[in-house]
Amino acid sequence: MSADVETIVVGAGAVGLAVARALAIAGHEVMVLEQHALIGSETSSRNSEVIHAGIYYPPGSLRAKLCVRGKAMLYAFCAENNVPHDRCGKLLVATNESQLPKLAALRENAPKNGVTDLEPMGGNAARALEPELACIGALLSPSTGIIDSHGFMLALQGHIEAHRGAVVLRCPVERLDREPSGLFRVTTGGEAPGAITCRRLVNSAGLYASRLARALDYGQGYAPPETYYAKGQYYALSGRSPFQRHIYPMPDGAWLGLHATVDIGGRCKFGPDIAWIPEIDYGFEPDKLAAFLDFIRSYYPGLDASRLHADYTGIRPKLYREGEPVPDFAIHGPGEHGVEGLAALYGIESPGLTAALAIGEMVAALLARA
Ligand SMILES: Cc1cc2nc3c(=O)[nH]c(=O)nc-3n(C[C@H](O)[C@H](O)[C@H](O)COP(=O)(O)OP(=O)(O)OC[C@H]3O[C@@H](n4cnc5c(N)ncnc54)[C@H](O)[C@@H]3O)c2cc1C
Repeated sequence: MSADVETIVVGAGAVGLAVARALAIAGHEVMVLEQHALIGSETSSRNSEVIHAGIYYPPGSLRAKLCVRGKAMLYAFCAENNVPHDRCGKLLVATNESQLPKLAALRENAPKNGVTDLEPMGGNAARALEPELACIGALLSPSTGIIDSHGFMLALQGHIEAHRGAVVLRCPVERLDREPSGLFRVTTGGEAPGAITCRRLVNSAGLYASRLARALDYGQGYAPPETYYAKGQYYALSGRSPFQRHIYPMPDGAWLGLHATVDIGGRCKFGPDIAWIPEIDYGFEPDKLAAFLDFIRSYYPGLDASRLHADYTGIRPKLYREGEPVPDFAIHGPGEHGVEGLAALYGIESPGLTAALAIGEMVAALLARA
């Protein structure tokens, strides 16, 4: 029995598009289905847009490997496709004595992930680079950068379409079934409801991936992981950026702290904080300003509060509850769930944007054409 389409990818975020691009280049006939009217309307447009170096993650983890590989692929992709980006670098800063051991631990961890270019420096050397900065020690990461995430996603869409793939917008997937023939039946709603069959299916639905996955039956013992939500909020700084490079405080567990990033237009913003929420809700909470001011002033004492204004929020898809150990990205193929032709991506939070191209490569290998 023949399928309507060979491969369907649910979700046109950076990761879904990168997966679809890799599959299309590998020769699949690919269709991406996206519920919204625009690509990248959720997490992929609500993040820091930082090209991460790969410093923090546990050695050997998918996060570490896909970040470092993805970073190299992303810089090459941006250069080849004229995607606005800047290898601006970042300073990881310790603002008091008690943070120095954390800085030393990061310096030790990075080379285990293949990040061998960190430059340790004292507070004065860091201030020579960034005069507005207050810190007593720092690590310079020259391979950290910034990307125009929309430009990246548009370029991915262009590649998909150039390889005869399609990105279908306003097309929410409402149901997934497996037919006796082994084909997937994908039922869509929206303006033109219908059903399409496919031989291979990728669930790259981000915050909604677990919800979507529950529609299918799996091999014995497999249950899709649960996704929890942790919101992060950003404030933007009007006027000239005080910094040339991103400034990252010491991380607190998996939270990288309220960092200062300089976007591709030279605009500085601060965030994201972290708040665990029961449902997806992008609302901005203005009463957090005082906490932001206190935190930011620990490394930027000259901050003028009148220049800060509300920017946006993003939501991290977490595979754990607050306080629980942090699991790795979950990229599940037939080896995990027992369903031939299915790949499902859960918990693709930071550094998912950086890792997108490497995730695409990995999923294309998982679903290699028979
Ligand atoms: C606050 C924050 C800061 C971050 N900062 C960085 C950073 O600086 N650097 C970095 O590398 N990473 C960062 N990340 C992580 C990065 O943004 C994500 O890993 C990445 O964007 C995830 O992409 P995605 O395609 O998996 O998800 P999404 O962008 O959420 O895409 C999923 C898509 O699936 C669609 N969808 C869902 N359900 C359905 C359905 N049933 N039918 C049709 N379509 C559906 C959604 O509409 C959405 O468009 C950050 C994340 C957050 C939250």
